[in-house]
Amino acid sequence: MVRYVYDFAEGSRDMAGLLGGKGSNLAEMTRLGLPVPPGFTVTTEACRAYLDTGGEPAGMWQEVSAHLTAIETAAGRPLGQPEDPLLVSVRSGARFSMPGMMETILDIGLTDESVLGLAKVSGSERFAWDSYRRLVQMFGSTVMGVDSTHFEHALTALKELREVPDDVHLTADDLAGLVETYKELIRRETGEHFPQSPAEQLRRAVLAVFESWNGERARLYRRREHIADDLGTAVTVQRMVFGNLGSDSGSGVAFTRDPATGRPGMYGDYLPDAQGEDVVAGIRNTVPLTELERLDPASHTRLRAHMETLERHYRDLCDIEFTIERGTLWMLQTRVGKRTAEAAFAIAAALVDEGLITSDEALARVGGEQLARLMFPRFDTSGTGAPLARGIPASPGAAVGAAVFDSSSAVRRAAAGEKVVLVRQETTPDDLPGMLAAQAVLTSRGGKTSHAAVVARGMGKVCVCGAEALTVDTGARRCTAPDGTVVEEGTVVSVDGSAGAVYAGTVPLTDSAVIRYLEDGSTDEDANGLVAAVARALYRADTVRRLEVRANADTPEDAARARRFGAQGVGLCRTEHMFLGERRKLVEAMILARDEAERDQALGALLPLQRQDFIGILEAMDGLPVTIRLIDPPLHEFLPDRTELAVRIATAEARGAVPGPHDADLLDAVNRTHEENPMLGLRGVRLGLVVPGLVAMQVRAVAEAVVERTKAGGSPQAEIMVPLVGAVEELRIEREEVERVLAEVSRESGVPVRCPVGTMIELPRAALTAGRIAAEAEFFSFGTNDLTQTTWGFSRDDVEAAFFSAYLDKGIFATSPFETLDRDGVGRLVRIAVDEGRAARPGLKIGVCGEHGGDPDSVHFFHSAGLDYVSCSPFRVPVARLEAGRAALEGTDVSDSR
Ligand code: PEP
Ligand code: MG
Repeated sequence: MVRYVYDFAEGSRDMAGLLGGKGSNLAEMTRLGLPVPPGFTVTTEACRAYLDTGGEPAGMWQEVSAHLTAIETAAGRPLGQPEDPLLVSVRSGARFSMPGMMETILDIGLTDESVLGLAKVSGSERFAWDSYRRLVQMFGSTVMGVDSTHFEHALTALKELREVPDDVHLTADDLAGLVETYKELIRRETGEHFPQSPAEQLRRAVLAVFESWNGERARLYRRREHIADDLGTAVTVQRMVFGNLGSDSGSGVAFTRDPATGRPGMYGDYLPDAQGEDVVAGIRNTVPLTELERLDPASHTRLRAHMETLERHYRDLCDIEFTIERGTLWMLQTRVGKRTAEAAFAIAAALVDEGLITSDEALARVGGEQLARLMFPRFDTSGTGAPLARGIPASPGAAVGAAVFDSSSAVRRAAAGEKVVLVRQETTPDDLPGMLAAQAVLTSRGGKTSHAAVVARGMGKVCVCGAEALTVDTGARRCTAPDGTVVEEGTVVSVDGSAGAVYAGTVPLTDSAVIRYLEDGSTDEDANGLVAAVARALYRADTVRRLEVRANADTPEDAARARRFGAQGVGLCRTEHMFLGERRKLVEAMILARDEAERDQALGALLPLQRQDFIGILEAMDGLPVTIRLIDPPLHEFLPDRTELAVRIATAEARGAVPGPHDADLLDAVNRTHEENPMLGLRGVRLGLVVPGLVAMQVRAVAEAVVERTKAGGSPQAEIMVPLVGAVEELRIEREEVERVLAEVSRESGVPVRCPVGTMIELPRAALTAGRIAAEAEFFSFGTNDLTQTTWGFSRDDVEAAFFSAYLDKGIFATSPFETLDRDGVGRLVRIAVDEGRAARPGLKIGVCGEHGGDPDSVHFFHSAGLDYVSCSPFRVPVARLEAGRAALEGTDVSDSR
C-alpha cells in the first residue's frame, strides 16, 4: 500500500525525492537527535496524485490525522485546543530548493476562541493577536485566494491611523481590530468565513501548498532553473515554536562556515524577539551570532555543538534556521548551503584536510563555471557611484578602456598601445578584429546569445550586452546615458561583465589571484588559501581525467598562454585571421588575379607571412600537437562590403569622376562571390578544391615552418585539418594535394615532413558517413559550432538575436545549443561518427574543437562519448581540465578514494 505521510523520525536525507529537501533534512536532524519540533511530511507522491486528479489521494487524510494525533499526544493537547492551543506550521518543500516560490502557512490552529487561550498561556496578548492576524492574512491570501494587497493596505492604513512606523508598534487591541478587518475582507472577497475549525484549516492549507507547485512564480522559477514540472512538492507539518515571545526568544539563520569565503567558523544573523519570517524580511536589523553568545550563552553553546554535528554528518557546509523559544533552542531547517565560487574551492580543500571527504569528493563539489568566475579580474566598486547603464552580464570580468565606436578605431588605438572598449549597438562578424583588440565589448542591443556575447565569452573577453538605456550613435562616435552623460570616443569607461554594468571613468581593478597563479605559479596574495585549493582541485582532475585538453589558438601568444594554463596542444588553429588586416590586400589580389602568374605572385607574398605565423605557434607548443585547419570562410569575407563599395563607386560617378579600375574589378569580384547563404556556400574544403593554389600555399607554409623548427632543434608536431568535409571524395582529393606538397617540401629541404591529415566532422553527412571518411582521415575533430548549425538548420548569426530568447522563454531550449551541446540531436551524430569512425579505423584519434569543448556539461558528454580530447579557448583550458576530471569520476563512488 502506498504511504503518503512520514513522521520526521521515519525519514532520512536520502528520501529527498519523496519528502522534499526540507522534509528529508528535518528527518535527518531528528534521527541525529537534534532538537527538532515534532512533525511529519506529506509526500511529493501525494502532491502529484492530487495535481493529477484534482482530489487528495484515498487514505491520505486518514494518515495525516493519525500523525497529527501522535503530535497532539506527545504535546499533551490537541490542535487549536481553546485553553492552550497546539499550533502547527504548514510548509512546502520540493526536492530542489525553490526559495520563496511556493507557500507557507504558520499558526494553523488559531481561532477566535483559541487566540484567547494562547494569550493566557503565553502571557502576551499582543503575541497571540499578532499570531492570529498572521494566520488570517496568510490563509486568506494563500488558501482562500484573496489578493494579498488588500491585507497590506489594511495594515498600512492602521499604521497610518496610529501614526506608527511599523507593525511592532501596534498594540494587542490594534491587532485584534486588524483580525476583524481581515476576516471581514475575506467575507467580502470570497463570500466565505475564515474557518474556525483547526482541522479544516490544516486540510485546506496542505492542499493549497500542493497547488502552489503550479503557481505562476513557481513555474517560471522551474523553467529558469531547469527543474522538472512533474516532481511536485512535499508538505511538512510541524509543531510551531515561537521566537517572538520576548527577549529570551529569537530567530536566526546560520552557516557552519562563511559562505562567501569558506573560512571556518559559525557565521550568521540573529534577531531577538522575532519569528524566522522577520529575519528574512529584513524589516528589523539583525545582530551577528556573536551577539547571541552574549545574550544567551547556553543557547549559543548548544547551537555551536549542533552545527558541528551537522557539518560532520553532512560533511559539507550546512545552513540552518533556528528559533529560541524562551531559552529553548529549536532547529527548524538545515541543508547543504549555497556558496560562492571562492568558498566552494576553499571549503572542498578544507574538508579534505579535516579528513571529512576524499580528494575525489572535493573535485566533484567544485565546478568549471565556478573556476571560470575566479579567473576573471574584478572591480572594486566600493568607492564608485551609480553606473551609467546596466545590461546583460554576458561575459564576466572587469575591463577599463577608452570608448570606441567601430572596429577599425579599436584596432588602430589598440595597436598604439591604448586600452579600448568597443561600443556598438550590436556586433557582427566584421567587428571581430575590433573585438579582439578591445578589452571589453559593450552593446545596446542583443541578449546572452547575441554575437557579441557568444564571441566575447569564447575569447574570455568582458562583455555587457543589451544595455538598452544607452543610446549608441556610431556615426557621431558617441553614446548617451539616461542621465544625459555623453560618452565621446576616447572617454574612459569601466565595464563590469559580472554584474552587467558600465561606469564612467576608471573603476579600480583587482587582479584575480587564480589567474596569477595559472600564469606564473605565484601564490603570494593568497590570503585565504584559495589558490592552493584551486591548484589541488586541478591536480586531482589532471590525475583522474581521461580526456586530453587542447586549446584553440591562432597566435603564438595564445598558444603560449594556453600551454601555461595546461593545454596539451592546439586542437584548432584557425588560419583565416591570418588573412586579415594588411594581408587582406594580398587576398584581394589573389581573387582578382587575371592569370596564374598574378595569382602565384599574391600567394607567394602570403606564403612567408603564413610560415612565420606557424613557426611562432609551433615554437610555443613545441613537442605538442598543433592542429592547423586549412582556410574555412568564404572568400568574399576578405573583400570589401558590397554596399559600401557600390556607394563609393556611385558617389564617384555622381561627382562626374570615373571609378578607379580597381574598384570596378573589386565590385565585379564581390558580385561574383556574393552568396545568399554563405554559411552553406563556397567555404571549407570546397574552397580548397576550386581555388587553385590556396591549399598548396597553406600546406607549404606549414611544412616549411616544420622544417625550420626542426632545423632549429625543435620538435614540431603539426597536424593538417580539412574543414567542412561532407564526402570522403572531397577529403581524398584534398589530401592528395596536401601529401604532394608535404613530399615536395621534404624533398626540397631534406627534412622529412610528416603531418597527420585529418578532417573536421561538422556536417551531418560527414557524421553519417564517418566510416567511409575515416579511411582517408588520420583524425577527426568535431566542429560542433557548424554541426549544431547544420543539424538544426540555423544560421547562428541570424537566429540567435532573432528568436533564441523566445525559444528559451518557451522552454524549447533549456540552454542555447551553441553553448551546451544538444545531446539528443547533435550528440547522437557525434556518437554515430565516433562508433563508425573507430570501427573503420581502430584507434582513430577523435577530438572536438567547437565552442562546446570548454562547456562543462558538454565536456561530460564528450567524455562519455569516448573522445580523446576537447579543445577550447585558452581561458577555458583550466575549466575543461577540471570538468574532464569530474566527468571521469561520474558514476564512481567518490567517497571511496584517497
Ligand atoms: C566549428 O564549426 O565548430 C568550428 C570549430 O569551426 P568554426 O567555428 O571556425 O566554423
Ligand atoms: Mg566550423
